[in-house]
Amino acid sequence: MKRGKQLYEGKAKKVFATEDPDLCIVSYKDDATAFNGAKKGRIADKGAVNNMISNIVFALLEEAGVPTHFVRQLSDRETLVKKVRILPLEVIVRNTAAGSFSKRFGVEEGKPLAGPTLEFSYKNDELGDPLINDDHILALGLASEDEIAEVRVYAHKVNEVLEAFFNDKGLKLIDFKIEFGKTPDGRVILADEISPDTCRLWDVETNEKMDKDRFRRDLGKVEETYRAVLERVRT
Ligand code: UDP
Repeated sequence: MKRGKQLYEGKAKKVFATEDPDLCIVSYKDDATAFNGAKKGRIADKGAVNNMISNIVFALLEEAGVPTHFVRQLSDRETLVKKVRILPLEVIVRNTAAGSFSKRFGVEEGKPLAGPTLEFSYKNDELGDPLINDDHILALGLASEDEIAEVRVYAHKVNEVLEAFFNDKGLKLIDFKIEFGKTPDGRVILADEISPDTCRLWDVETNEKMDKDRFRRDLGKVEETYRAVLERVRT
């Protein structure tokens, strides 16, 4: 499959057209950003590492019955995916308090939550991706009631599958962000990526952070950590 014209460039990926109008090629970059683009950097080989991790995870989720955009990996950095219209929602699932949840509610990072906790943010960089509820989503026409319900079911399923998968690799799934897209025939499927850029993963034994917080918080060993996560998930 050959790369056609560039359709989009985001913070971590570029998207290209292909000769098939229903398919796109995603190309992962090494660029890293945090705090809504205020902190910028590069993580060597992150593009290739995240491409591989995300594809392993998406294949696993497909097997578990979650429809995704994944078609096949084309190269280290490039993957063929189904073309979708991304719902402008960041769907976050939390198992343990961390990050913005800890800040907003004044709970220490690492406190287990009573159960998997789902939240939506409105994907809008200018507004800083504000927290949004179901009524707001309907009011703004971002998704229908049925689509929100479907997204909730899939998000919880993704959490169940990933929590067990990562736990098996000695990683505790603290929280993660996923995105969904709509296919031309109106189906909602999992899109974007699942990687240490979009998940919080702590070593089960040591609680060491093995995700983008190493970059966000200048904890060091950033490249090594991304590679270590790939080594764990591919074995
Ligand atoms: N997350 C993400 N992209 C975003 C915001 C959050 O991938 O634009 C992920 C983040 O890596 C974490 C989870 O979503 O795994 C929850 O993030 P949180 O709301 O705590 O935000 P943060 O503390 O990262 O600002």
